[in-house]
Amino acid sequence: MISAEGLYELLLHGYGQPRWWSEDPFTVMVQAILVQNTAWRNVEKASALIGDMMSPDGLGRMNEEEMESLIRPCGFQKAKARTIRSVAEWFRTYSYDAAKASDNPTASLRSELLDIKGIGEETADAILVYAIRKPSFIIDAYTRRLLGRLGYGFQDDREIRQFFEAGIPQDARLYGYFHWLILDHCITCCRKTAICDHCPIAAHCRQASTALAIGSIDPGSMKSTTEP
Ligand code: SF4
Repeated sequence: MISAEGLYELLLHGYGQPRWWSEDPFTVMVQAILVQNTAWRNVEKASALIGDMMSPDGLGRMNEEEMESLIRPCGFQKAKARTIRSVAEWFRTYSYDAAKASDNPTASLRSELLDIKGIGEETADAILVYAIRKPSFIIDAYTRRLLGRLGYGFQDDREIRQFFEAGIPQDARLYGYFHWLILDHCITCCRKTAICDHCPIAAHCRQASTALAIGSIDPGSMKSTTEP
């Protein structure tokens, strides 16, 4: 099986330099909550409605109805508005300063975030990586699907976390880029119904090998992917 580092290199080669979520930590926090159980385009709609009120101060000045109405495109507006307020309150304890929060150990920040109603592991890790810049690998449904198809056979998220965190340097920027590459890959090729013909990691994929063996993929259509 390909290593975590090898997987990163192939995805980077296939999709190019990934983008970063947002340079504004509070925007990342709000959007990480808004994107729960909805598509990114709905987050963009809600973010456009919030506009320059996207700050602890701006959202703090809104009453409940106002905030719920702005984030309605993302659904679950009551619960999400409550979580956004709780996360803003948590961030206030660090003076709304991501660098100050970052002085604390990753495990204790993660535990604080997980104590907030509405924050699950995926959201906590997204906030840690993209907002606070702490290395805590983000495991989502895309990551599980990709690794399952590649054939790793991990039993649970703990094993997936171990695979990534032991296999690449503990660096928040690298974790963020890796997550983005997996997202890109799963939206482009490794969709619910996989489009394997131009997959940059097909040479390392158990599902693709099986498909080739039974003749459901034309070998001539597969991209050469043995080297980055
Ligand atoms: S070869 Fe197909 S199933 Fe395998 S990783 Fe690529 S897109 Fe996904």
